[in-house]
This record gives sequence, C-alpha cells and structure tokens, in this order.
Amino acid sequence: MGLTDSFGRRFRYLRLSITEACNFRCVYCLPNGYARDPDAQFLSVSEIRRLAAGFAALGVTKVRLTGGEPSVRADLPAVIAGVADTPGIARVAMTTNGWKLAERVGAWRDAGLTHLNVSVDSLDQNTFGRLTGHNRLPDILSGIDQATALELGVKVNAVLLRDAFEAGIEDFAAWLRDRPTTVRFIELMRTLDNVDVFERQHLGGAAVERWLTERGWAPLPRRPEDGPAVEYSHPDYLGRFGLIAPYAAHFCDGCNRLRVTARGKLRLCLFGEGGVQLRDLLDEAIEPGRLEARILEALPTKARGHSLMLAQSGDLRRMADVGG
Ligand code: SAM
Ligand code: SF4
Repeated sequence: MGLTDSFGRRFRYLRLSITEACNFRCVYCLPNGYARDPDAQFLSVSEIRRLAAGFAALGVTKVRLTGGEPSVRADLPAVIAGVADTPGIARVAMTTNGWKLAERVGAWRDAGLTHLNVSVDSLDQNTFGRLTGHNRLPDILSGIDQATALELGVKVNAVLLRDAFEAGIEDFAAWLRDRPTTVRFIELMRTLDNVDVFERQHLGGAAVERWLTERGWAPLPRRPEDGPAVEYSHPDYLGRFGLIAPYAAHFCDGCNRLRVTARGKLRLCLFGEGGVQLRDLLDEAIEPGRLEARILEALPTKARGHSLMLAQSGDLRRMADVGG
C-alpha cells in the first residue's frame, strides 16, 4: 500500500515533530523564546513507535525528527531508537540547532540516527548571536565536525536573510572549500508571527542562484527522488551549496513529505490549516489498521500547493509549532 495523493505525488518521507519547546530565540521563529503551554503533552516514545510503524506500513522509509528543538527532550535517544527499530524505516534524520551536539551526537548515532541537519544561519559569531539569541557557535561547529567524523550524513541549514547574505555566503564558501558538507540556504517563509521580520529580511532565492553561478558553481542534475533543494558544486570546493526556494514557481510539484506535529496531528501542508488528529489511534489497545486507514483517508485532501506568494501562511504561527 503506498501513499500517493490526488496529484500523483508519492510520499515516503515523514517529518515528525517531537516537541514545540526550544532553547533558542531565532528572530524569524521564536524571537521572544518558547512560552510553555501547560496543557501541551507531546507524543510519548510508545506513541512515536506506533506512529512510525503505521507510516512504515504505508511505505514511508525516512523519518526526520524535528521540533521545536528535539535535543531538549531528555528521552531523545529512546525516541530515535523507537523510530530506528521500526521495520521498513531505513533513514532516521534529525534537524537540530546544534545545542549539546558535540557531547551527545555519539549517543544519537548509537541509538540509530543516520542523518543530521544542523541549523547555522551565520559563521560570524556576532551575527549568529544576534539571530539566535545564543553565543554557542564554536560548540556547534565542533559538534558538526564530530558528527561528520561519525559519518552521519551532515548538512547545514541557513535561513536566507537580506542583511546577512553577502557576508554570510563568502564565509560559508571559505568553510566549504576543504569540507565535504552541504550548506543549504532556505528562503525565509512568512508565518503569522514573523510578518515584520519577513517584510524586512526576505530575499528571493534568485540572489543565491546569481551569486553562485557568477562564481562558477553549477547546479547538479536532479533525480526524481530528490527533495526540494537544488544543489550546486564547484571544482575547487569539496563542499556544496544548496537552495530551497519555496517561493519559486512549481516548488510544490515535487512535494515528497508529510508532517505530524508533536501533538499528534497529521499536517498535509506546512502552510495549511488545522490537521487530522491521529493521537487517539496511537493507543496500544486500538485495533491494527485504523491509523493507516485514517492517514489514507486524509491524503486526498492534500492541496496542490501553498499560497505563500499571496502572503497567506495558513494557520502557521511559527515554524517551531510544526517543525519546518
Ligand atoms: N530547532 C531545530 C532547528 O532550528 O534546526 C529544528 C526546528 S526548526 C523549526 C527547522 C528549520 O526551520 C530550521 O532550519 C530553521 O532555521 C527553519 N526555519 C524556522 N523558521 C523559518 C522560517 N520562517 N522560514 C524559513 N525557515 C525557517
Ligand atoms: Fe528554535 Fe529552531 Fe525555531 Fe530557532 S528555528 S527558534 S532553533 S525551533
């Protein structure tokens, strides 16, 4: 049984948020920090196991853990192992802000983590501090080295911001010269809470494309299973750049992912509204097959694409609520 929507798009990739909490204050996401919701109960390890098994039964082979910040969960190794032990799941990836990375990445790898994306918006310590509210850049960079040495597939995500771009890309290029890593710029997306920052800081992905091609970077041919990033290589550099440009035409045609929130809702589009509650079906007492049936029933309602270019973000307040 496979997950295919009304537009013929096939889904083998699940982004699973495991918490809404975060210890950083990124200016475009949680500028005032995470405000705890006393009613929020995030998915437990056993619920996560059942969820992973249900999606695997429908042909999902890759799960990315995200948040909020996944590393704030004390039981993260058990979460990773719960997903990694699921028959059919071949890749367990995680997106993190890099907090405690150097210290903990070995345990995450031992639990079954296979791929890691680390968000680093700038290699300049002052800019990094201004953007994230934290001065942990040297620790994060040494964590990236450690994760690379452990042969986890490591990528760096940087949100594309108008006032940090020119200086930032020069620094990243120098960093990539002898390092087999990919730095992917993600175009800043509008959410309900970040309108001011968005209006001031949004820069179209074309600026990255132009910068790269003027300096001899060439886009790599795309394969059908590739996600939304276009990658660029250069003969003088060991590393690569990537670009994720959600405002580009036809971005959603290649959508390959489904999302589940930390509260157990299936979210068919990041910029949609509401979601389909799955949590009541994550109880061990529920008969097998009901979870899969509800996911299959929801899939035809997945929209063809988002309406970001019309300045509509659905009901997405901030990326930390769904996991990006
Ligand atoms: N806390 C983790 C982190 O920052 O890597 C995981 C969750 S975070 C919501 C996932 C990704 O979304 C990060 O790479 C972050 O930079 C990105 N992000 C957050 N808000 C965004 C926005 N408004 N537009 C584009 N990317 C955003
Ligand atoms: Fe936290 Fe990630 Fe949002 Fe930054 S982008 S505030 S690290 S959830």
